[in-house]
Amino acid sequence: MNDISLWHAVARNRRHRPILDGALDADLAIVGGGFSGLSAALHATQKGLSVALLEAQILAWGATGRNAGFVVPNFAKKDPADIVAQLGAERGERLINLACGSGDLVFDLVRRHAIDCAADRSGWIQPAPTAQAFAKVQARARQWAARGCPAVILDRDEVTALTGVKGYAGGWMDRSGGVINPVEYARGLADAAEAQGARIFENTRVRKIAREADGYRLATECGSARAGKVFVAANAYGGDLFPQLARTYFPLRIFQLATKPLPAWFRGRLLPGNQCVSDTRRNLFTFRFDAENRLISGGMHVFGPGSEQRVPRAIHRRLAEKLDLPDISPIEYAWSGMAAVAPDFLPHLVDLGPGMIAGFACNGRGIAMTTAMGGVVASWAAGADPDSLSIPYARPGVIPFHAVLRHAPNALLPLSMLRDHLDEDKAS
Ligand SMILES: Cc1cc2nc3c(=O)[nH]c(=O)nc-3n(C[C@H](O)[C@H](O)[C@H](O)COP(=O)(O)OP(=O)(O)OC[C@H]3O[C@@H](n4cnc5c(N)ncnc54)[C@H](O)[C@@H]3O)c2cc1C
Repeated sequence: MNDISLWHAVARNRRHRPILDGALDADLAIVGGGFSGLSAALHATQKGLSVALLEAQILAWGATGRNAGFVVPNFAKKDPADIVAQLGAERGERLINLACGSGDLVFDLVRRHAIDCAADRSGWIQPAPTAQAFAKVQARARQWAARGCPAVILDRDEVTALTGVKGYAGGWMDRSGGVINPVEYARGLADAAEAQGARIFENTRVRKIAREADGYRLATECGSARAGKVFVAANAYGGDLFPQLARTYFPLRIFQLATKPLPAWFRGRLLPGNQCVSDTRRNLFTFRFDAENRLISGGMHVFGPGSEQRVPRAIHRRLAEKLDLPDISPIEYAWSGMAAVAPDFLPHLVDLGPGMIAGFACNGRGIAMTTAMGGVVASWAAGADPDSLSIPYARPGVIPFHAVLRHAPNALLPLSMLRDHLDEDKAS
């Protein structure tokens, strides 16, 4: 396993930010320098607010620098009809619209701020291994298309032609998705926010947040920030800053790997259009290429002793098998990251008291949604009524028996894999 991800290793636009030393005042203080915090900083400065962003490590240290770089403008597990059923028509459609436009937002920001991040709006493909799963994704594609999203249904042959993988029953593609280098994208957001006046600090961990007469004081090792409003964008990396928050989601460790670059001629067979792919299996199979022709894939496994070596090897074997690549290049980078998964798989804004919120949008689809969340948080910071926001806003919903249930996604993985096999056996 590498200490840093492929993206941190190859990203070219690193600029060091100072440690906060002394005291400062801002309208909005942001804790965490991932997509959520950086997008909120950019959108809030565009609204004329003064912003200070405090990152404990370096920018994109958390899930932002460790993901696969798939821009996926929809939700894991939840389709528009499910969202309307859960949130009601008005709030549900608000969230669906936000998701629907989130791919546009990412690629527009890249273009507007000239962010050099190997962005390619090539589309995101979700193939289905069985006829039953294909029926489900067709319904999904129709629901998104009905809301104006560029969603297209793909038959068996179209999936094979686009991905190079045989055996899927069909699938769908959201053309508004695509691929980026997430670290370069995050750093580009930071540069854009600073150009608008945001102050960004690295190696500045927020140790304590104390309520004051008209706002909050955030204490760090060498300084402090005073702000009228606070956005906690620490995701699954928040540690014990708010122990209660950590009990509102399932922390999921996900592994990723990148092979050494494949010879260019492979691209004639695999992903000639440079899309990213995640199928419908419970034990998700994902792949894409980076700009240098490295194959990237990821996954979860039941953890235990030796998982740091065992899991990347298992992902690499699966990649070779599914893509029919007996001579696959060896692993060049392997890393892991923490995702925060809400029990309902939807993004959430958590009310932490007057003028303070936290945001979680991850659920494995965070690049587009956290970018969109930044705009929503900026509206909140500028005074919008929380009930009018496009992301559900509520007091922390602590998961009962969290100490035990937090291990459920990993512990139940063998069962998920078995169910995938049974579904595929039944269908064959
Ligand atoms: C392995 C993996 C693969 C993924 N793949 C994809 C994908 O392909 N596509 C997709 O859309 N989504 C993907 N996701 C999800 C996506 O990466 C996340 O949703 C997104 O990066 C979350 O961004 P964030 O800013 O909310 O949090 P993070 O990026 O986790 O940032 C939180 C930051 O807060 C900082 N912090 C924590 N505590 C403090 C403190 N006290 N003081 C100051 N700073 C603090 C941390 O250092 C960290 O930098 C993946 C996630 C993982 C883990």
